[in-house]
Amino acid sequence: ATPTAVMVATGVGANNGVLIKGGDALERAEKIRYVIFDKTGTLTQSKAAVTTVKVFTGMNRGEFLKLVASAESNSEHPISKAILDYTRHFHFFEDPSVTNNPQNVINDTIMTGWLLHTVDFCAIPGRGIQCYINEKQILVGNRSLLGEKGVDIPGDVEEVVVDLEENAKTGILVAYDSELIGVLGIADPLKREAAVVVEGLFKMGVRSIMVTGDNWRTARAVAKEAGIQDVRAEVMPAGKADIIRLFQKDGSIVAMVGDGINDSPALAAADVGMAIGAGTDIAIEAADYVLMKNNLEDVITAIDLSRKTFARIR
Ligand code: ADP
Ligand code: MG
Repeated sequence: ATPTAVMVATGVGANNGVLIKGGDALERAEKIRYVIFDKTGTLTQSKAAVTTVKVFTGMNRGEFLKLVASAESNSEHPISKAILDYTRHFHFFEDPSVTNNPQNVINDTIMTGWLLHTVDFCAIPGRGIQCYINEKQILVGNRSLLGEKGVDIPGDVEEVVVDLEENAKTGILVAYDSELIGVLGIADPLKREAAVVVEGLFKMGVRSIMVTGDNWRTARAVAKEAGIQDVRAEVMPAGKADIIRLFQKDGSIVAMVGDGINDSPALAAADVGMAIGAGTDIAIEAADYVLMKNNLEDVITAIDLSRKTFARIR
């Protein structure tokens, strides 16, 4: 293709909300054989919502949610947003001084001053978060987070988590001061176009794979809905990049589509990295393409555009 053709394609992409960072990426997209999709925030709507709250100690729901939301208020993960959203509503309707004040609407302002002060926050990618509240450690995340920190998961808690997972939900465990105090169930529906895009790619000769840091049970249930047969679950961020390299081994051109900090090593390792526009800045920086409309159909648009620009002059 001539430089002009590349410029035109870049312009057409931009007009359609597909930002292309350079002619090389545009050229590579033509030959994409595999598309590796991240699950949370990529195949799913990122409209994760809390469906279940189970508290296992003497603490009431308000106290429990306040602890969890305070910790999660430091994070931008779709799970954090879901928990804060739920807690905001809970707080609005639960606290009479908030409910009855006509000036109040359900927004972040009603949370200021109510959330607890947190210290030493850190996110453990693919696992969850950790910080200190009232000088006690709080952990919010999956089994491996609690395992890594030496917190015991009692049998009845494990049962609750398994039940959530079998229903395509993610079970989030909460430990405070090394004690398991509760579980949250998070439902994150697929993007409406997900299954159609997977099928469309298949017809174009492109195979779809799902990788996720989430657990196997939830992952399989979600992949099935999307029509994806090849699933890799419980994958750490570095592991996502390894999976890209695995598919590249025979010289295949591999695309990665992701939204999170945890996807950035894989986005960089892929021949074509595509970031969801609503994703984190780090993912957007690591990618060659930015899908501004957050619509998975634009994965097809991107490949199509490249094929139209390069295929005919081979
Ligand atoms: P994905 O690869 O599907 O985008 P992540 O790697 O972001 O998922 O997260 C993997 C798992 O780590 C989540 O399913 C959740 O159990 C846990 N996790 C990650 N971030 C958080 C958070 N902020 N709060 C609670 N749990 C989290
Ligand atoms: Mg994600």
